[in-house]
Amino acid sequence: MKDEFAFIDSVTPSRTYQAGLVQGIGDDAALFKTTTGFEQVICVDTMVEGVHFRKDTLTPYQIGRKSLAINMSDLAAMGAIPRYYLVSIGIPSHWDEHAVQEIYCGMGELAERYQIDLIGGDTVSTNDSLVITITVTGEVEKGRHLLRSQAKPGDVVFITGEVGLSAAGFELISQKGIGAEFSANEEKLAVKAHQEPDAQVEAGRLLAQSGFRVALNDVSDGVASEANEIATASRVKIELDVQKLPVDSLTKINTLEQAHQWALFGGEDFQLLGAMDKQDFQLIATQFKQALIPLTVIGEVHEGETGVWLKEGKSIVELERKGYNHFDKDK
Ligand code: ADP
Ligand code: MG
Repeated sequence: MKDEFAFIDSVTPSRTYQAGLVQGIGDDAALFKTTTGFEQVICVDTMVEGVHFRKDTLTPYQIGRKSLAINMSDLAAMGAIPRYYLVSIGIPSHWDEHAVQEIYCGMGELAERYQIDLIGGDTVSTNDSLVITITVTGEVEKGRHLLRSQAKPGDVVFITGEVGLSAAGFELISQKGIGAEFSANEEKLAVKAHQEPDAQVEAGRLLAQSGFRVALNDVSDGVASEANEIATASRVKIELDVQKLPVDSLTKINTLEQAHQWALFGGEDFQLLGAMDKQDFQLIATQFKQALIPLTVIGEVHEGETGVWLKEGKSIVELERKGYNHFDKDK
């Protein structure tokens, strides 16, 4: 990196989308108007090279795209419309400027899709790993936000899309290398799920706009962990049926048992996992069908001891939250 200011210039978008933007990159802070009747939603996520991503499984473009997708997924899980993002980047000397610009191009793809604006950030040097911190903002209609704490006994537990694909994709790329050709469609799908995940923004919006009570969480750490978060926040007992987990594509590349492991404990699928009233769900299911968003019932909410239980045929076992935990040194 020769010149910080020239670098900031090079990553400053040439156009903006949001009508509420007053001042983007170029002043001491960004300034934007909020929409009357909406609540403001904000979150931040950090990705560290060697911990959250590796250059041998993701290209710089994909690293950027995925960093922003992860944040979009958090907004989706609140039911929000994405608006703005800020990027703080720590760059070690072994990353050349062009590769870092590629990271911004990857983010740019999603910025264009969601019509959101990059409105600021910070640029620093680090000793050894690239660090990307993204803050995103969004808006949701007053009172329509979707919290994890809203599950009630009698609810159905549902999930969008397929789960476990990202973990499977990671294993495939780790075995065969980032440049490998994957012939089977299911393998391609899994690799794409790992390298270029999509956030379920549209699904989050459908749920928020419905006005129904919905408990919602995005699947960043695996179904086991996310279901436990809903159970804990809502103080309910969740029962999941392992046979109902949507893992069709995965069973074409591995055993059903392995597919279930990936779905429950893999993570980074960025699907939405939620709970809502059975009757409301029928209406939602019709809307999702029209929008071509796959939606599957995978369990029920019950009264009882807070936690998650997994039914496998006639047996039922407690499902612990052993998704990826940064501070769990036993793994
Ligand atoms: P200041 O000293 O006021 O913090 P900076 O030189 O750090 O200013 O940043 C100048 C402008 O560029 C600010 O608008 C800031 O938000 C933006 N900016 C800095 N680094 C980045 C980055 N990595 N990505 C996007 N915008 C950035
Ligand atoms: Mg600064």
